[in-house]
Amino acid sequence: MALIVQKFGGSSVADAERIFRVARIITKTYDAGNNVCVVLSAQGDTTDDLIAKAAEINPDASRREMDMLLACGEQMSVALMAMAIEKLGYPVVSLCAWQIGMATDSVHSAARIRTVDCERLREELDKKRIVLVAGFQGVNRHGDVTTLGRGGSDTTAVALAIALKASVCQIFTDVDGVYTADPRVVPDARKLPEITYDEMLELATLGAQVLHNRSVELAKSYGVPLEVRSSFTGNPGTMVKEVVNDVEKTYITGVAQDKKIARLAIFGLADVPGVAFRVFSLLANSRINVDMIIQSTGREGRKDIVFTVPEKDASFCRQLLEQNRTALDFERLEINTDVAKVSIVGAGMQENAGVAARMFEALFQEQINIHMISTSEIKVSVFIDRADADRAVRVIHEQFFR
Ligand code: ADP
Ligand code: ASP
Ligand code: MG
Repeated sequence: MALIVQKFGGSSVADAERIFRVARIITKTYDAGNNVCVVLSAQGDTTDDLIAKAAEINPDASRREMDMLLACGEQMSVALMAMAIEKLGYPVVSLCAWQIGMATDSVHSAARIRTVDCERLREELDKKRIVLVAGFQGVNRHGDVTTLGRGGSDTTAVALAIALKASVCQIFTDVDGVYTADPRVVPDARKLPEITYDEMLELATLGAQVLHNRSVELAKSYGVPLEVRSSFTGNPGTMVKEVVNDVEKTYITGVAQDKKIARLAIFGLADVPGVAFRVFSLLANSRINVDMIIQSTGREGRKDIVFTVPEKDASFCRQLLEQNRTALDFERLEINTDVAKVSIVGAGMQENAGVAARMFEALFQEQINIHMISTSEIKVSVFIDRADADRAVRVIHEQFFR
C-alpha cells in the first residue's frame, strides 16, 4: 500500500463546488488502496483578504500577529474539506500544524521547518483515515504560530512527504504542469513533461510561482519525486526530478518574471572595509533575501550600494536601515518599486555561448531598457521597468522557443 501526499492550492478549493471536486480526487486515491495525506491552502484570495483586513487596522502589525491571522485561512480549508469528505461517507480528520508537531524556527512570516513529529499523523493513517493538514503554518518552540512565507503550502506538502516517506508528492494546482513560461502571460508556452530540481528551483526562485522554491529545495535534498498537475483536468502533469530525459531538450528551460521586487539604493556610505558586511548582515538577520547587489566605485571617501529585495520587505528594510543610520553612516536611502526581474533558466546555457546576448537582442528589438544584469551558471536575469515585464517575457520566450 502506497502513501501519497497530495496538495491542493487556493484556487482548487475556492468554493463549495471546487471543494467537492477535490474531495472526489482525494477519495478516488483512497479507494485505489492508498494511504492519503492531504495539504490544503487557504481558499481563493483568503490570504490576500486577511492581509487587507490587517492593513485596515494596523499597516505595521507585527509579523507574529500577522502569522496568527494568516494561519486561519488554511485552518478553514481543512475543516471545510473534512466536512465534504464526511458527506461523501469517508473517514477523515483535519489537523493544524500544532497538532502534528510541524516545528519551525521563530522567523515569523518566513519560518523554516525544523522537524515534523509523525506520531499523530501515523496514528490517524493507521486508523485508515484520510488526513487533511493545514498548509503554510507551523509552530515555534514557544508554541507560537508561524507561517512559511507566501506559497508555503507546497513546502508543507514536501516536508510531510519526507517525514512520512511517501512514494510521491503531488501538487495539484490551476495549471496542468510547469510551462516554459507563465501560461497566463505567454499563451503559447509549452508544458514540460519533466524538469530537473535545479532548473525548477531557479525558476521558482526567479518568480515562477507554480512551486514554492523551498519546496523544491527540500524535495531535491531528500530525492522526493514531485508531480505538478491540474485539479481541473486529468491531463498528465510535470515531474520534477534529479535527471530528465534529454530528448528534444532545448538549452533554455523557461522564462520567469518577478514583479514583486523593490530596488533599494543607499547613497553616501563610508568607503571603508566592513560596510557591506554591516548592511547585509543586518538584513540577513531578519531573513531578508537580498538579490542583486551593485556597489559604485568610491569617490571622496564615500560610495553607494544598490540592491534588490522582495517588495513586501521594502518598508521593513527602510525601517531597519533608518534605525541603524548612525551605525551604518549613510547620507540617503531611496526605494523604487517600479522594477521587475525577468530571467531565463536552463542548464544547457553552460555549454552554449551567446545565450545572454540573444536575450538582450530580443529586449533591444522591443526597445526595452535594461537597468541591471545578473548571471549565474544556469540563469541570466535582467532588471527592467515593471511596465515592460510582460512584454519582455513574451519577446524573450519568442526568441528561444519560436
Ligand atoms: P496554487 O494556488 O495552486 O498554489 P499558484 O497560483 O501558487 O497556485 O501557482 C500556479 C500559477 O503559477 C499558475 O496559475 C500560473 O499562472 C503561475 N505560473 C508562473 N509561472 C509558471 C510556469 N512556468 N508554469 C506554470 N505555471 C506558472
Ligand atoms: N495561503 C498561503 C498564500 O496564499 C499559502 C499558500 O497558498 O501556499 O500564500
Ligand atoms: Mg502556490
